Amino acid sequence: MPIDRTGEDRPLLFVGWIDALPVPAALIRPMARGNFRLHASNAAFDRLTLSPAGADAPIEMLRAIERAVQHPSDIQEFSCQLGEGVSARDLRGSIGPLSEECGDDSLFLLTLIDRTQEMMTERNLRRELVSDSLTGLPNRAGFEELVEQRTQSEPGSPDHAILLLDLARFSRINEHIGPMAGDELIITVARRLKSSLRSGDILARTGGDEFAISTRIAGGRADVREMARRIRGCFDHPFRIGELKVSVDCALGCAIQYSAEKDVADQIRHAQIALKRAKRTDRIEIYEPEAARLSDNRFGMETELRNAIEEDRLRLDFQPLIEMASGRVAGFEALARWTNSEGQLVSPTEFIPIAEDSGLIVPLGQWAIGKAAGVLADWDRQNEGKTVDCYFSVNVSAIQLARDDVAAAVRSALDTHGIGGGRLMIELTESAIIGDPDLAMSVLSELKTLDARVAMDDFGTGYSNLAYLQRLPIDVLKIDRSFVEHMVDDRDKVAIVRTIQSLAEALGMKTTAEGVETADQARLLSALGCDFGQGYLFARPMDSGAALDYWRQSRVQPIF
Ligand code: C2E
Ligand code: MG
Ligand code: MG
Repeated sequence: MPIDRTGEDRPLLFVGWIDALPVPAALIRPMARGNFRLHASNAAFDRLTLSPAGADAPIEMLRAIERAVQHPSDIQEFSCQLGEGVSARDLRGSIGPLSEECGDDSLFLLTLIDRTQEMMTERNLRRELVSDSLTGLPNRAGFEELVEQRTQSEPGSPDHAILLLDLARFSRINEHIGPMAGDELIITVARRLKSSLRSGDILARTGGDEFAISTRIAGGRADVREMARRIRGCFDHPFRIGELKVSVDCALGCAIQYSAEKDVADQIRHAQIALKRAKRTDRIEIYEPEAARLSDNRFGMETELRNAIEEDRLRLDFQPLIEMASGRVAGFEALARWTNSEGQLVSPTEFIPIAEDSGLIVPLGQWAIGKAAGVLADWDRQNEGKTVDCYFSVNVSAIQLARDDVAAAVRSALDTHGIGGGRLMIELTESAIIGDPDLAMSVLSELKTLDARVAMDDFGTGYSNLAYLQRLPIDVLKIDRSFVEHMVDDRDKVAIVRTIQSLAEALGMKTTAEGVETADQARLLSALGCDFGQGYLFARPMDSGAALDYWRQSRVQPIF
């Protein structure tokens, strides 16, 4: 039997095992709780198991030995720790029968491998992975792990809160005082934060200038607020970095984790939402589930909207623009409509901002321009090939103006459907135009070369610089609905409309009054010289079939 007694330096250990025999204590000290005897061992084994660390045979080893006795033909493997504290050893072992080789079926071979060093390296590596080298605090991964561990190890534990803290304008401070001092500032902040915490709280550095704290709370929101205030108090006094005194402020966002919900990642996300808000409001913000639902809802809506655009499930409705002098239909404004998967009609005032935030406004805007041209071509066909004498006015958002080549989109739509440029008008809001007047200038000039017209939408609500207005090739000012509303009994509003009207006349532009709901308004607007009117008085937005009928009808009998 090749029992190796010479392998001093090898951690391979051999040991025989005999069931149910009393054993000399000295030999079996590491296995004192088991009923077995060490038959033979090498020096490495002795060193390991007779050392103070090897006081008790670990339970994993004993179980493996038991299993080996019960199933003598199998090899049992196990991992265990021998001893405690600094002298503890990490072992991996296996035990199996020796019978085949020596003919004695009461003999087993126990092999141990000392993995302490290896495990230590692994642990150190792990520690590096989960900690921040500058402050020695856990990093984001470490924080998540620690909070997770705590949540799992304390089922039914009291509620916890996560507080996220972001240093205000840290990159500016860093630039100002230099990266070395910046590092020192972070370390000092970490130290000050640490000293403000209660025992059991977890502090981590989760980003360049972001710290996270997990703390138990007993009194719900009031307790969190109190805690947040205390933490913010750390920033009441400036930090001393060498000769420098640096004042730092912070934003604080908190999320409460009730014992019922255990998902740490979710909770951190909630705290991030609160932090984002805190950066804006400059206050301590506590996450409200409602706000998250809203943001989830927004995300869901974005996905659905993207699909709707890709699958061509948006629609355009058309609202007539009435020439006040003749009472005829001059054109229609094309307004996007979206029926979501639940069959609800979502208002453009709701989905256009989402499209703008997500960039979907570009494909949406292109779709609207193309679709409007397509409908016009379709109307011509339905009109026995004769051109339907009206134009479509299409809304283009400021974001699309900045990101997309709007003129190219218009050109392509006109070419595709064989429509003259004079039959398309583009509505831009005042803010889109004054936001980047040079860009607006170049896009508008290009649109002019296509013969397309431009309206300034919601005019009067922005802060138009009249000098720009004069320079830009704008055809129509759309007087915002807010001036038309109540104008009949509000002389200030009448004065504004009159001013816009004379401004337009001076600049050679036409006007369209939005939101005309009553005949009195229409008469008054007409008297003020307003060129076109749009509003529920004439018609609500309608689908293209109804709009074409409406146009035909207006040829027979003027609308107004
Ligand atoms: P907008 O361009 O100012 O369009 C006029 C809005 O006023 C439309 O609302 C229209 O239905 C509504 N309206 C018309 N007459 C009246 C009235 O007499 N009384 C009242 N109270 N409202 C009236 P809608 O369709 O909800 O569209 C809202 C906004 O969404 C539009 O305002 C426009 O800014 C935007 N939008 C709509 N479609 C598009 C689109 O295809 N692209 C872009 N970028 N924006 C669009
Ligand atoms: Mg409009
Ligand atoms: Mg408008």
